[in-house]
Formats: sequence, C-alpha cells, structure tokens
Amino acid sequence: MRLRTLRDLEVEGKRVLTRVDYNVPLQDGRVADDTRIRATLPTIAALRERGARLILCSHLGRPKGQVREDLRLAPVADRLSALLDMDVRYVRDITGDEARTMASQLGPGEVGLLENLRFDPREEQNDPEFARELASLAECYVNDAFGAAHRAHASTAGVAALLPSAAGLLMEREIHALTRVLEADEHPFVLILGGAKISDKIGVIENLSRRADALLLGGGMANTFLKALGYEVGCSLAEEDRLDEARRLLSLAEQRGIEVVLPSDAVVAPELGAVEQARTVPIDGVGPDDAIFDIGPDTVARFSKVIGDAALVVWNGPMGVFEIPAFREGTRGIAQAVAACPGFTVVGGGDSAAAVEELGLADRIDHVSTGGGATLEFLEGKELPGVRLLMEENG
Ligand code: ADP
Ligand code: MG
Repeated sequence: MRLRTLRDLEVEGKRVLTRVDYNVPLQDGRVADDTRIRATLPTIAALRERGARLILCSHLGRPKGQVREDLRLAPVADRLSALLDMDVRYVRDITGDEARTMASQLGPGEVGLLENLRFDPREEQNDPEFARELASLAECYVNDAFGAAHRAHASTAGVAALLPSAAGLLMEREIHALTRVLEADEHPFVLILGGAKISDKIGVIENLSRRADALLLGGGMANTFLKALGYEVGCSLAEEDRLDEARRLLSLAEQRGIEVVLPSDAVVAPELGAVEQARTVPIDGVGPDDAIFDIGPDTVARFSKVIGDAALVVWNGPMGVFEIPAFREGTRGIAQAVAACPGFTVVGGGDSAAAVEELGLADRIDHVSTGGGATLEFLEGKELPGVRLLMEENG
C-alpha cells in the first residue's frame, strides 16, 4: 500500500479543495499561536507553484453544527494572508452561493478559504450530500490535516472518495515518520510514555510493545503502575480501576522480553499549589499525604542512559506537570536526552509536542507529530479514515 502524494496528482490550473488543520487557539479575535497555519505553507506553496487554485477548508473548535461568531475563520484568513503576503479570499460560507462564486473566480495560484466546516452539522455526520457539495467546488482534493485524520467526517473522508485525491506534504511527512515507527526494525527501540492516564495509552503500549526493547514509564500514568506493584503513591493521580490492567500490561511486557523502567525517585508535594513544599524523595519514600508531580533526577539519569543508546525513540506524554515550573525538570531532562539521541526520534501528543516546543528543543527532534488523537490512534495500529482513501493498492 502506498500513499498518494502531490506528485501523483495533476493540479495544474485546477481547483484543489485542500483540507487543512487550522484548529488554532484564538485570543481577542486574533490567532494566538499560528504553528498549525505555518505547518501548511509548504503544501500551499507547492500547489501554487503548479498554478493550482486553492480552496482551503478547516474546522475550528466545537461549534456543534451551528454558526458561532467567535469561531469564524476570519482571524485565520488574516494571519494566512500575512504569512503568504497576498489576499486570501475568505468567505463566510461553506458550500453555498458565496463559496461557489469564490471558487469559480479564483485564478491560478490564488487562495480562498471557506468558513468553519463544523458550522454545518453534516460535516461531522460525514453526510454524503455535504461531501458532494464540497466536492463540486473543486476538481481534485488534497488532505493535509493529519490532526483530523482519525475522524470520519465529510471533509476528511467523504470527499476523498469523490475526487482524485492525495496527501499534502505535512500529511505525507506524518505518515512517513509514524510508519517508520510502526514497522520499526531499528533497535534498540525505546518507547517513553507519560502523561495523565494509562487508559489513554493502553492501545499504544499493546501495539508498540511488540517491537520495543525498552519501555520507560513516567508522568501521572506511572503512578498507576507503581500502585499496582504495591508502592505507596499517597494522593497522587492514579487510576484505581486500572490496577489489574497495569499488572496485565507489565506481564505482557515481560512475556515479550521488554525492559520496563519505572521511576526510582519523584518530586512530591502535598498539592499542586504547594510548590514551596516540593521535595525529591526515593520512590519508596512517598508518604500518604504526598502527591507525585514529576520524576526525580535519579530517574532522569536512568531514563537518559537508555535513551542515549537507542536507535529509535518514541515519546508520548510529559514526565510530570510540566505546566508548573517546579514540576518541569523531569520533562526537560527527558526532552534533552531525546534531543541528544543520535537515533531517529519521534515525539507525539498535544501536550508532549507543546512541551518540547516550549523547551526550545523541537528542532533537535526528528519528528514532532502535529496530531494528538490521530497520532495515538495511528501508533495503536488503527487505520485512520482520513488516510485510508489516500492509499492505493499495489504501489
Ligand atoms: P499528550 O497530550 O502528550 O498525549 P497527556 O494529555 O496524556 O499527554 O498528558 C499531559 C498531562 O499530564 C499534562 O497536563 C500534565 O500536567 C499531566 N501530568 C503529567 N504528570 C502528571 C502527574 N504526575 N500528576 C498529574 N498530572 C500529570
Ligand atoms: Mg493531552
């Protein structure tokens, strides 16, 4: 199976409906962080160079099928116009007269932007009629919205079946890097998992532990594993109803011959707000009134040693409550170890990507995935509805 890419599509002079992920944070009617917009510039440039007429479309937030003034794409159009140094033709319409007129008037190399797709309830229903209306605006379709590819919506799945379609450059890069992980025969393969809960990550552990050589567990989810092994975790975040699941995953890892490394020390405090009382304790020294908010320096050193020898690293989930400086050092230490690793390194997950960006280390990681849920589902081995129709047999 091969992913169809821009090189497979005849776009010269054609109207190209391009699904992007412009689900960006807004503040006071402006785009607060334009990372996702900038991420689509290579695809836009490649299509414009070939004389395509671009009709961009995206969702923003959760308007639930209704027009919400605060979720219009106008601020996105402004920022995109500035980034492209040209006038992006934004319409407050998705498939109606205004949208059709805009689409038909676009010249080669010109760019239009439709209104928030989720203002129409038919988008999330993957309604065939809505998909046909979208398709009728253009002659071909490009999907560059990896972050939305786990949703079977009209603009991500429905329309792909109706027009000659291909992945954009961002989508291509994501699939390429994550497929390298799924098909990994690079060893040692080190999987680092953290974040809030194990319930979010069970599928990833099950699937990737087939190939991984070491599993490093930190963050809130490690508490559940520690508790399952009989450690005192005080009032830490831990999933009581997942203790059996945690034990099952540990024995699965053991059966598969994977080295599982749990924290050997932790930064604890009575509560999140009590940072002045934060202290580092050995993992068997957590008291009943302590909560674990970060991994400690000994854990960072032990994890870093494993990471340093890796040929392939996949990291999802911060090692602690990195949003608070007092509990950021574990995540910083692991981010530095991943950045320094000479192997192929991948970081995925919304908060994990934000953490490495904030720490200024994203440039030193081979692939920082832009998808949150989509990345996790891909790594679980699921077929993403937004990707399925971009694949072709016998490539
Ligand atoms: P991602 O978005 O990268 O998949 P998650 O959403 O699973 O990551 O987890 C990120 C969240 O986990 C962060 O908000 C962080 O504060 C929280 N977290 C990490 N460690 C702990 C901990 N020890 N206790 C409570 N919350 C934690
Ligand atoms: Mg998250």
